[in-house]
Amino acid sequence: MAAESSEPQRIAIFGGSFNPPHVAHVLAVVYALSTAPIDGVLVVPVFHHPFAKELASFEERLAMCERALGWIPRVVVSPVERDLGGASLTLRTVEHLAAAHPDWSLRLLIGSDVLGDLPKWHRFDRIAAMAPPLVLGRVGVVPPPPGDGPISIPAAPLPVLPRVSSTEIRAALAAGDLDAVRARVPASVLDYIEAHRLYRRADS
Ligand code: ATP
Repeated sequence: MAAESSEPQRIAIFGGSFNPPHVAHVLAVVYALSTAPIDGVLVVPVFHHPFAKELASFEERLAMCERALGWIPRVVVSPVERDLGGASLTLRTVEHLAAAHPDWSLRLLIGSDVLGDLPKWHRFDRIAAMAPPLVLGRVGVVPPPPGDGPISIPAAPLPVLPRVSSTEIRAALAAGDLDAVRARVPASVLDYIEAHRLYRRADS
């Protein structure tokens, strides 16, 4: 996403565990590029999740994000949270990207399942000022009322993306149910998962 003019580039940061990346992530970035006032998407796999989820290694998730999303025009997969090190905090990432790329105007691309967590985020008010949220509806999620509580929670649009989650994919992989996974995970990611024996039960 090299600057071609002095105009600010409108970049959406798409952070997540991507454990593993799935087709709703692919559709999410294409949908956002198609419908939202953005020029590019920066995919940012979390390094160490502050809420301590069980994750495949960072390098594995980065490699899977490259396969799932790196081929899409105007999408870049970034190791920035590994480079910053330590526990990943969205505020730190946003501040770093804003300082490193003064020509970028930032948005934060999130699914509506994240809205309920925002009050727990460190300085969400500051994040929202630097990178206003761009919200994707998520099927099955009842979002909190907009503007509820001490911070301003954005409204969630109606969902258009399919009901797919990494959690259900990990469960299907652990159960050895590859047929359930094939329609929900990019083939290149599934090849990687199988080659690296990820998400199997400990005894398999
Ligand atoms: P998990 O099931 O492990 O919580 P996930 O499927 O939510 O994972 P993440 O990597 O946590 O995947 O998601 C990254 C971002 O993509 C988040 O903002 C999340 O809300 C959004 N997202 C993921 N799947 C969908 C979906 N089906 N519809 C809308 N947004 C989604």
